[in-house]
Amino acid sequence: TYVVTEACIKCKYMDCVEVCPVDCFYEGENMLVINPDECIDCGVCEPECPPAAIVPDTEKGIEKWLELNRNLAGQW
Ligand code: SF4
Repeated sequence: TYVVTEACIKCKYMDCVEVCPVDCFYEGENMLVINPDECIDCGVCEPECPPAAIVPDTEKGIEKWLELNRNLAGQW
């Protein structure tokens, strides 16, 4: 899965949401998140993110962001 991280906070671009083929972005309080159970790992959103907030879950230290994405996506 891909994960939305800190750089997304207060970003006003929604390009990632538009390109996602499975609509797995959800809106948190101050950032977008990806539902890890719905993401198909296609990677098309990554280059569409101006602040480069979207990273693969293989990135180091991503665990807390993955958990936050999972939690916030589950609320909606
Ligand atoms: Fe959507 Fe693909 Fe990005 Fe996953 S990697 S959030 S499926 S665009």
